Amino acid sequence: SEPPVVESVPQAGRPGLRLLRRVGTVDPTSLAAYRASGGYTALRRAISIGPGAVIREVTDSGLTGRGGAAFPTGRKWDATARQPETPHYLVCNADESEPGTFKDRVLLEGDPFAVVEAMTIAGLAVGARRGYLYLRGEYPRALHRIRHAIAEARHRGYLGRDVMGHPGFHFDIEIRRGAGAYICGEETAIFNSIEGYRGEPRSKPPFPVEKGLFGKPTTVNNIETLANIPLILEEGAAAYARLGTERSTGSKLFCLSGSVRRPGVYEVPFGTTLGELLDLAGGVAEGRTLRAVLLGGAAGGFVRADELDLPLTLEDARAAGTTLGSGVVLALDDQADLAGILLRIAAFFRDESCGQCVPCRIGTVRQEEALQRLVRRGDPADTALLREVGQVMRDSSICGLGQTAWNAIESALDRLGLLTSTEGTA
Ligand code: NAD
Ligand code: SF4
Repeated sequence: SEPPVVESVPQAGRPGLRLLRRVGTVDPTSLAAYRASGGYTALRRAISIGPGAVIREVTDSGLTGRGGAAFPTGRKWDATARQPETPHYLVCNADESEPGTFKDRVLLEGDPFAVVEAMTIAGLAVGARRGYLYLRGEYPRALHRIRHAIAEARHRGYLGRDVMGHPGFHFDIEIRRGAGAYICGEETAIFNSIEGYRGEPRSKPPFPVEKGLFGKPTTVNNIETLANIPLILEEGAAAYARLGTERSTGSKLFCLSGSVRRPGVYEVPFGTTLGELLDLAGGVAEGRTLRAVLLGGAAGGFVRADELDLPLTLEDARAAGTTLGSGVVLALDDQADLAGILLRIAAFFRDESCGQCVPCRIGTVRQEEALQRLVRRGDPADTALLREVGQVMRDSSICGLGQTAWNAIESALDRLGLLTSTEGTA
């Protein structure tokens, strides 16, 4: 009953795609087709050069995490691999739940064997014999595809004991499904969920590389991060790093939604400007003019229509006071109900807070109330209250949800002048 995956990828089949190269062109249910399109050459190379060299390649490539936080992947793998305590675990975070984010679904549905191959390479590198793929519960087609890919790979000797006939290299993958809670995408909440506890985040540090799943050293990687691994192993770190910029290497998937003519997942090299990306999607909807873009999702920030020359890199986004986050690009036109969108964001965080720590449990409620009053009355006292509550949540919440729950609202106040002009005061 779901639409085919290629409808979500307007670029499907175009030359020059890397992460999306097989989506819509190679049968995602056929291991033979995957191999015929270059699949498993990366794992073969990884086995031949060994874990240390694999980690060096990934480090030298400059790859950073694509879940949203952009932590260097090679550093994470190295830190896990070095831990003396065993066993080590690999967790693939496929609980994609950030509003406006749907890129990992496209990879899972459109190129599932690449996810399996990349997890196997990561397992080899960090010394894990078992990987868990924690999948968003609302992705039934992705579940079907990835379950089939795992079974096929196991049947053909690409998973299990002595992977690809290599004595002593054992690795297998287990799928665990989420049940609809946004917070269960937070990496330590995933551990609790897999272990059978409530899906509540743990305090960090200690970081998972030291104490993760079942208290053991664990690497957690996002699907898109992993999708880069075969590319790096196939072409080498130096070639991989030639694309993008010095500090943001490779390409990035962006999820375009809102007021654009062709919404969907787009792949562009880091350094492409926001305006060029919007043009790929056909620009703003007919008869409308662009007002702003929410970049990076609910925890991100707004970019104004006069700032479309912003290069999409980690460093430029940070300098502009936002983040690329998980690749959300939500275009708002002149008719968009900005106050309504912010109220929805505030309600979302209030609803999805796990309630474990006071600043977030209470703060997200107070934030929503103050925003509702501000929209109704335009009283500057509510702006001041929002700033105070937001700062407390940022400074003292346990996890990223509470720490970032005020980002988009703050950005709207500071960069779009929300409610200081005509908005909401009628
Ligand atoms: P974080 O900065 O705490 O950590 C990022 C990663 O780096 C984690 O894996 C963490 O364990 C690791 N790390 C950080 N410091 C480390 C250290 N010193 N040593 C070893 N490892 C270290 O961020 P986070 O809370 O894991 O993630 C927040 C991000 O998640 C936000 O940017 C948001 O955009 C994103 N997010 C994405 C989705 C989605 O659906 N993709 C949903 C919600 C949030
Ligand atoms: Fe739970 Fe919010 Fe605290 Fe995170 S910040 S642990 S979501 S209450």
